[in-house]
Amino acid sequence: MRALRDQLFATDPEVSATLTGEEDRQRLGIELIPSENYTYPEVLAALGSVFTNKYSEGYPGRRYYGGQEFTDQVENLARERACRVFRSEHANVQPLSGSPMNQAVYLGLLNPGDTILAMDLSHGGHLTHGAPVSHMGRLFSFVRYKTDPADGAIDMDAVRELARQHRPKLVLCGYTSYPRDLDYAAFRAVADEVGAYTMCDASHYAGLVAGNVMRNPLDFGFDVMTTTSHKSLRGPRGGMILCRKDIAAHIDKSVFPGLQGGPHMNVIAGMAITLGKALQPEFADYAAQVLANAKAMAATFIQRGAELVTGGTDNHMLVVNTQHSFGLDGRAAEELLDAAGITTNKQIIPDDVNPPLRPSGIRVGTPAATARGMKEPEMAQLTGWMADVLASPEDASLRADIRGRVADVCRLFPVPGLDV
Ligand SMILES: *Cc1c(COP(=O)(O)O)cnc(C)c1O
Repeated sequence: MRALRDQLFATDPEVSATLTGEEDRQRLGIELIPSENYTYPEVLAALGSVFTNKYSEGYPGRRYYGGQEFTDQVENLARERACRVFRSEHANVQPLSGSPMNQAVYLGLLNPGDTILAMDLSHGGHLTHGAPVSHMGRLFSFVRYKTDPADGAIDMDAVRELARQHRPKLVLCGYTSYPRDLDYAAFRAVADEVGAYTMCDASHYAGLVAGNVMRNPLDFGFDVMTTTSHKSLRGPRGGMILCRKDIAAHIDKSVFPGLQGGPHMNVIAGMAITLGKALQPEFADYAAQVLANAKAMAATFIQRGAELVTGGTDNHMLVVNTQHSFGLDGRAAEELLDAAGITTNKQIIPDDVNPPLRPSGIRVGTPAATARGMKEPEMAQLTGWMADVLASPEDASLRADIRGRVADVCRLFPVPGLDV
């Protein structure tokens, strides 16, 4: 496969050079952005398969084009496996990515102008949870809940108060930057009190739900759970919506024909593979290791005197207040770590006094490093190096030295699908 690919790419040396560069970047640097992962070699093959040639508007058994014998089979496999992985009654695997996935739910269950209660962006919510710059923020009336300054946790009393005051039609939980598990029973009680739908966007941590190391919102009677397939689940880039049977028709109609045209069948084949793997016992081991690795990183950061938002982690990520810990804003920290071969991302922290492009923290996560086979000792070592780099921003030779050591560790843990 590799030889064939090299041959084909040789016909376009310009694009080929970008791919080779990206391969080396992924091979020799450590990826600690919590939303990223290395997918399986099987998924890379599915993405490059002839399923990409096929138009399949509609759903299995009800398509608008002929020739659907195998696309129907593979989409049914993906849907059935998704239902088994997440204990769901229904699954839609067609959303092209996470953002259209959430848009499809809002547009399928609500009317424009309806109120949605969701987490504030600066406290950990996603852009699609109603950030004023997002189109959804213009179409719906979002009310945003925040975390409690005392402990950094979501303030459920405030959530309840906001719900009573604004009577939302949808109560949304889930996040992109929050290192704790959620109290789904409490969210459900808030929604029930005002007669709202419950939705959880588990995009970041669905792999940990699948591996049974975090709670599953559907076990608490949530109406809808959405997730991207490419983060902790390790699949292709895409989105899926899991929901109760009685609202399935609204969701399906909203995805197609409401929001999208033809689904990407090569991605859906990759999702079927990913979900098949999530049902294996090895995946539960992976999820448990993702969590153990995050806890190892948190322990080392704390040992080195760093301040973590909420003081630790229950999931795959940590948010480090670099301003308080090292006197560095998140952009400076991100750049210093980049120079040492360690990829993280700058992150606004709750009630950040600094602007979004120079926020007060960074976000760090373990799904990708864990997919390479790294365990607690490697995570503790990497975290120690991060603390060294951030504690000595003037020391360029230290960064170069650590970059070399990071590359040495990375060579011992090949990137799945790259060095097979
Ligand atoms: C990543 C993410 C999304 C959006 O996914 P894209 O594929 O980038 O559009 C939505 N919600 C949450 C919570 C996310 O973390």
